[in-house]
Parts: sequence; C-alpha cells; structure tokens
Amino acid sequence: MTDLSLDAEQLDRYSRHIIMDDVGPEGQAKLLDARVLCIGAGGLGSPIIQYLAAAGVGTLGIADDDVVERSNLQRQVIHGDADVGRPKVDSAREFVERQNPDVLVEPHETRVTKDNIESLLDEYDVVVDGSDNFATRYLVNDACTLAGVPFSHGAILRFEGQITTFSGDSPCYRCLFPEAPPAGTVPDCATAGVLGVLPGTVGCIQATEVVKLLLDYGETLDGRMIFYDAADMTFDEIRVEPRPGCPVCGDGDDRVDSIADVEYAETCAI
Ligand SMILES: [Zn+2]
Repeated sequence: MTDLSLDAEQLDRYSRHIIMDDVGPEGQAKLLDARVLCIGAGGLGSPIIQYLAAAGVGTLGIADDDVVERSNLQRQVIHGDADVGRPKVDSAREFVERQNPDVLVEPHETRVTKDNIESLLDEYDVVVDGSDNFATRYLVNDACTLAGVPFSHGAILRFEGQITTFSGDSPCYRCLFPEAPPAGTVPDCATAGVLGVLPGTVGCIQATEVVKLLLDYGETLDGRMIFYDAADMTFDEIRVEPRPGCPVCGDGDDRVDSIADVEYAETCAI
C-alpha cells in the first residue's frame, strides 16, 4: 500500500498521522480499510464514535436500539438537544457525516442479542463494547471470544471506570468475572448516576485501544485491566490471567461451543 492510495484531501486531513513513522500512509490506509462495530451510541459510544470517525476508521457499524433522551445529553456528546426523541443511530450517523465524509456508518437499530450478534461479528474486524448492562457485556465477551474477534471493554458508574482489551482468545471477561452479580446488587447509571465527563475519559481509552489494534502497534490492555477513579484522579491496574476451566476461553471439557445455550438474563451463568 502506498500513499498514492490516499487522495489530496485525505493526505491533508490525516497529515498528523501520516507524518508519524508509527502510522504513516500505510497505517492510515489500514484505518480507512478497517471495519469496527461499536455497540452502544451512548456515553461511551459518543467519544468512541467521535474519535474513530475523526481518525478515519473507514466503516463504523453502530448498534443501538435507544432513542435520545434529554437526560442523556449531560454526557452523550454526539447527540444534541434537537435529537431528543430520535433514534441514537440516526443522530450518530449524522454526526459522523458532518465530521468526516470518508467514514461509512452502518446503523444497526437493534438490541444486540444472541440471535443477531454472530452475523454482526461476521462483518467486522474489531468490536468496541460501549453497552451499559451485564447481559450485553457477557454476550459480547462470549460471542467475540468464541469467534476470535478482538474487543475493547469499558464500564462506568458514578466517578469510576474500568477498561480492558481482549484479543478474542484467552483470557476473557469471564476469567475475571465468571458470572454477573445478582440483579439489583450493582446499581446502574440511571439509579446511581455518573459524572458527565467520565465516559469521555473511558471511551477515549477504548478508542485508543481500537486504533492500536487496527494499526497493530504498541501494547494494548490485553491481559491488564485499568481502574480509573475520577474523584481521586488515580489509575490502578491489575493483571488479567486466564482462569483454568473458564467455560468460554478455556480448553476444558465444559467449554461451551455456542452462545445458543447460554441464558443472557439475570447472572448470565454458564
Ligand atoms: Zn475466559
């Protein structure tokens, strides 16, 4: 791939990437050729979509079945006041079209479920999970790991966030957290609140990880999880080790072959 594959406007738009030896015209061409699926166009999805589109990730799938609510606007920065009541995928697509005409948005106005996730994964190179619930989080982990698709995980509540990256191999999210906590024991943003800028930080780290995965550059968070505390302004890190007998990424007899038999409700237990 040579820089001749980039036109004059692209050479200008991405010039700060192109002058970096670590990206260059070849790296930019990789980004333009890439297909990324963003699950959720909310608090985390907003900065993820914004920065991946600005970076010239050529095809962005956006899966979300919600409409914009006024209470979203304190943190979901790709949506505006005039978008209240509209599907988030429509608002997100218009945002990207204004930002960067190089990017093709593929809107999926649907909830990601075990009935549709495998066909979605077939279409994309990397997944970034900006969902806000345990059922989707476990579903994304299980489907991506079984299909070998790398994905970025992020989660937020009040002043705290966590981020990691999984290679689509081992370890996986279930190595850390085999099952979701029982319903009602962990509050969500709707009941406990979230600092409006928090998803900006967490989503930007996720977008950074996606760009590095696409460029195959640097050290990702594969095998590490970051805990960010915005109140204390601290970043802590733990190792993420493969858990022997993990039913999703392990090689034991009880490894699941398919997500079809897993019930993604309550504790998402296998
Ligand atoms: Zn695992």
